[in-house]
Amino acid sequence: MSKPIVSIVGRPNVGKSTLFNKLAGRRVSIVEDTPGVTRDRIYAESEWVGKKFTIIDTGGIEPENNDIILTQMRRQAQIAIEMSDVIVFMVDGKQGLTDTDNEVAVMLRRSKKPIVLVVNKIDKNVEENNIYEFYNLGIGDPVSISSSQGLGIGDMLDEVVERFKTSEEDEEEEEYIKVAFVGKPNVGKSSLTNRILGEERVIVSDIPGTTRDAIDSFLETEFGKLILIDTAGLRRKSRIKEEIERYSAVRTMAAIERCDVCTLILDATEPISEQDERIIGYAHENNKAILVIVNKWDLIEKDDKTMDNFKKNLEIKFSFMAYAPFLFISAKTGQRVHKVLSEIKKCYDNYNKRIATGVLNDVISNAVLMKEPPVVAFKRLKIFYVTQTDVKPPTFIFFVNNPELLHFSYRRYLENKLRQSFDFEGTGIKLIFKERKN
Ligand code: GDP
Ligand code: GDP
Repeated sequence: MSKPIVSIVGRPNVGKSTLFNKLAGRRVSIVEDTPGVTRDRIYAESEWVGKKFTIIDTGGIEPENNDIILTQMRRQAQIAIEMSDVIVFMVDGKQGLTDTDNEVAVMLRRSKKPIVLVVNKIDKNVEENNIYEFYNLGIGDPVSISSSQGLGIGDMLDEVVERFKTSEEDEEEEEYIKVAFVGKPNVGKSSLTNRILGEERVIVSDIPGTTRDAIDSFLETEFGKLILIDTAGLRRKSRIKEEIERYSAVRTMAAIERCDVCTLILDATEPISEQDERIIGYAHENNKAILVIVNKWDLIEKDDKTMDNFKKNLEIKFSFMAYAPFLFISAKTGQRVHKVLSEIKKCYDNYNKRIATGVLNDVISNAVLMKEPPVVAFKRLKIFYVTQTDVKPPTFIFFVNNPELLHFSYRRYLENKLRQSFDFEGTGIKLIFKERKN
């Protein structure tokens, strides 16, 4: 599974930032090399008992002077619910239980997200008695900590880590094709999601597990079972969508790590941005199947060459992943939306494709007959045997006399031959060269 996201929610001044800073031992600026626009330092990477996770400080959305605490708290909690896998709900053990705490607890309970209730500012043993009133929140056993003194934090992290998804739940998802719709704000991700969910032949099923992310969509379609991974409040037409987008970089990364097919959505009326290239680059580096969708095609003045020109431009921009197919659609009019799921399925099947060893070796022997490897330092590469060792993506091991004799142009030639012989559209393929004596 991808790295879980943990957020810290609570009233102003309960000690959220203090805890965040304690947990963010190695504060990695994931923002620079992250797909996303935000420059705020609101994320940090953390690790406990070998489990890595990302923490979000939703305290960042509290305005400096705020006399409408409750309204802000609701937004903060909503964002945490939409963004995170586990929520740390922090209350103040010195101040005691407040009405705002109660209000937030109701929201969090309703979300069914895993929650750890943390009573902060328990700096001394005698203050332990302060925690009992917080049972009234109905969130279970409170964990007492002192963020400033660094007390109880290990016990708290045990509780957090315990609530991460188990590997069985991950396995249960194996039968689904996991799809992430990613892209900049306003390109039409929600519109497309809602269109697909509204299609007659798509059945939106209930969430099988209880601890599972409540905002992913589970679908049964003629192309199999799919999960649409929620990247930033996809299904919701909510007021806070804009605010959620601010946090969407980390969600986008997590979605890409978890998905099988990464579907990049572009707006036909806008130039391709650096952010688009970064998002898709991240998917490529993580060996995902990739589909590129150009949306808002209804807004483009077209003649018979328009689509070809668009394609050429995209091919140049995305030359490092020439395998990704393009689809031109309009989520608004519905044009070609019916093709989205079949394209996703095609990419997924190719991503999972296995080639029989015999056929594979025939193709490679023929390729070598047609064009011998070039001579490097008076020696020539010799390929003894090829076998596919893995899928997602398809991975081939070439046993050769000496891998150092492989010229990059010849590697490209072999990859092209494989792609000409078998359909790998939508997926990268890996070629690994290993030495074998004779
Ligand atoms: P936030 O607004 O929730 O992010 O709260 P801060 O982390 O900014 O902390 C608010 C105040 O509470 C600061 O003055 C902190 O020094 C103090 N504080 C934080 N944690 C503790 C704690 O464990 N014990 C005590 N006594 N004070 C704390
Ligand atoms: P998201 O932020 O990527 O989820 O984008 P939305 O789905 O919220 O769409 C942003 C805006 O673009 C909304 O006003 C949509 O109505 C509009 N929109 C989405 N898809 C299309 C399309 O295919 N054509 C046109 N003309 N507008 C679209």
